[in-house]
Amino acid sequence: MSLYRGFETVIGLEIHAELACESKVFCTCRTAFGAAPNTQICPICLGLPGTLPRLNRQAVEFAVLAGLATGCTVAEFSRMDRKNYFYPDLPKAYQISEDTYPLCREGSVEVFGRPIGIERIHLEEDAGKLSHGKGVTLIDYNRCGVPLIEIVTAPDLRTAGEAHELVAELRRILRYLGISDCRMQEGSLRCDVNVSVRPAGSDSLGVRTEIKNLNSFQFIEKAIAFESRRQIDLICDGGTVRRETRRFDEVTGSTHSLRDKESAADYRFFPEPDIPPLRLTGADISALAARLPELPAALRARFAALGLPEADIRQLTEDRALADYFDAAAEGCENVKTLANLLLSEFLRLAEGEGFACPVPPERLRAVANLAAAGSINASTAKRLAARTWLEGIDPEETVSREGLAQITQPEALLCGIREVFGENQALISQIRSGKTAAAKALVGKCMAHFSGRAEPRLLTRLVEEELQK
Ligand code: ADP
Ligand code: MG
Ligand code: ZN
Repeated sequence: MSLYRGFETVIGLEIHAELACESKVFCTCRTAFGAAPNTQICPICLGLPGTLPRLNRQAVEFAVLAGLATGCTVAEFSRMDRKNYFYPDLPKAYQISEDTYPLCREGSVEVFGRPIGIERIHLEEDAGKLSHGKGVTLIDYNRCGVPLIEIVTAPDLRTAGEAHELVAELRRILRYLGISDCRMQEGSLRCDVNVSVRPAGSDSLGVRTEIKNLNSFQFIEKAIAFESRRQIDLICDGGTVRRETRRFDEVTGSTHSLRDKESAADYRFFPEPDIPPLRLTGADISALAARLPELPAALRARFAALGLPEADIRQLTEDRALADYFDAAAEGCENVKTLANLLLSEFLRLAEGEGFACPVPPERLRAVANLAAAGSINASTAKRLAARTWLEGIDPEETVSREGLAQITQPEALLCGIREVFGENQALISQIRSGKTAAAKALVGKCMAHFSGRAEPRLLTRLVEEELQK
C-alpha cells in the first residue's frame, strides 16, 4: 500500500476495447483502421431515420470469450439499451449499449497475486472521431458502430502500478483470445480511471472523480498519481472532493474539471426497441468456452514450473506467438533456460514489428540449445548459430560438423594454441606478470580468437592463468 498524508487511494477502471470484427456491430460496414474519413459508413451507422440495426454475431461471441476468460458469469439473457446524449461524434444522439442486463458479470483477474473484481463486461458501439484543428473541427464517422466491449472493474485497485498491470494483463488476455488488437496509440484500447481517496484503514469509499479516455500506460499512471495527490491535499486543506468528470492534460500531467459527473438518470436509458433481447443457451456458452486458448496466467505458471526466471517468463508470455514458439521448441529440449535465452536475445533482436513472426522451424532453435546443453558448442557459438538459422536458414547440427564449430575441450589441444599465442605476445605477458593483471582478460580474448571462438571458455581461462604463473 502506498500512503500519502495518511490516505490511501482507491481506483476502479472502465476499459474500452474495440473488437477485431471485420464488420461493425449493427451493420455490415468495414472496421479497418486508417481508412479515408467517412468511407466506411452507411445509413445504419449514421443513424438515419428508418434504418434497422442487426446485431453482429461475431461481436457477441468475442464479448462472451472476454467474459469467460476473466471468470465472469455469462448471462443467458441480456439486452441492449439506448443511452441518450447529444454529441457531434454521435449522429443518432444515442449510443446502443447494455445497461440493465449486461452480457457478462462478476469475474476477476489476478494482479500481482491479488484478485481484482470485474463487475461487468458489456457490448456497445463506438462513436465517431473528432479532429480539432485551427478554428475547425472535422468529424470522421468511420468509427461509429465499431464493436466495443467495456470492462468495468470493482474499486479494488490501490496504486497506479496495480492499475497499469491490470490493463496490461487484460490486454494480454484479449490479444491471446484474438478478439482485439488493443493498440492504445490507435485508440483500440482506452481507459477511464475512477479515483477516490480515504483515510488508511477506513472501509468506506470516498467521493470519486472520473478521468476520461487515457490511451497510454504512462498517462494512466500519471493521471492516478496526480489525481490522488490533488484530492488528498484538497481534503487536508479542509476542502471536499466533487463528483465530477475530469480531463488529463498530457503536457502538464495534471487533471482539469470537464463537467459534473452525469448520473444514469441523465442518460434516459430505455430498452433498445429495434434489437430483441439476446438469449444464449448453456450449450452456446459451453461451445464458446471450448474455444478458449491457454491464457497468460496459466502459461506463466507452466513456464515457471520449467524453472525459467521471472523476467524471461514475463517477456515470453507478453506475446502469444512468441510463447507458442517457445512452447514448441521446448518440447524435448535439454536446456530450456538456454533456449529461452537464445530466443529472447537473438531472435527477438531479429524479429521486426509487432507480433512475433519467425521463419525458423522451432526444432532448429531447439537443436542449437541441445548442442549447447551437451557441451558440443560453447555459448557464443550457440548465439551465432541461432542468428544464422534465422538469417541464412542453416541447419545447426550440419553446420557444426561441416564448419568444425564444435567446442574444443581437450586441455592438450588448448595448451598448444595458448603457447603459440604466448609466443606472439611477449610484451603483453611481461606486463601482466609485472602486475598489470587487468590485461589478462585481453590475453584470454586473444587465445579465444586463436581458436575462432570455439574454446571451452572456463577451461581456457584456467589454462591461461596457469601458464601465466609459470
Ligand atoms: P457509473 O455508472 O457512474 O460509471 P459505476 O458504478 O459503473 O459508476 O462505476 C464505474 C467505475 O467506478 C467502476 O470501475 C468502479 O469500480 C469505480 N468506482 C466506483 N466507486 C468508486 C470509488 N469510490 N472510488 C474509486 N472508484 C470507484
Ligand atoms: Mg460506468
Ligand atoms: Zn454502417
